[in-house]
Amino acid sequence: MSPTGADGCLFCRIVRKEIPARIVFENERLLAFEDIRPRAPVHVLIIPKDHFASLDDAPEGSEALLGEILLRARALAREKGVGETGYRVVLNTGRDSGQEVFHIHFHVLGGRPLHWPPG
Ligand code: AMP
Ligand code: ZN
Repeated sequence: MSPTGADGCLFCRIVRKEIPARIVFENERLLAFEDIRPRAPVHVLIIPKDHFASLDDAPEGSEALLGEILLRARALAREKGVGETGYRVVLNTGRDSGQEVFHIHFHVLGGRPLHWPPG
């Protein structure tokens, strides 16, 4: 998918419940749902409900929001049973990272040994 604004954005459509998703957490600011193509036994995406394309586009003043996402990643990892075995939080940003959906999203991956360095 190429960069788009909120109107045509896949993840904004999930936020608006126009497209189904397996939602695992929601509050006023955040939504978390199962990745449709899981790369590990645990693979959840966490997004802010407000649209911005990537970390590179994060607005001034988003420190608290970004911090809340990280702590939610920890909480979801614990709920999914990988808090002790370990997990990885991934934030792909821009073309070389392989970012495909241009609504910022944090991957939470776990449940198997994860290779390092990533490809
Ligand atoms: P990225 O490559 O970091 O942009 O990751 C995009 C992620 O979104 C991929 O892991 C996809 O499997 C996932 N994805 C794409 N469409 C959906 C969808 N409709 N519901 C849940 N996850 C999705
Ligand atoms: Zn969006």
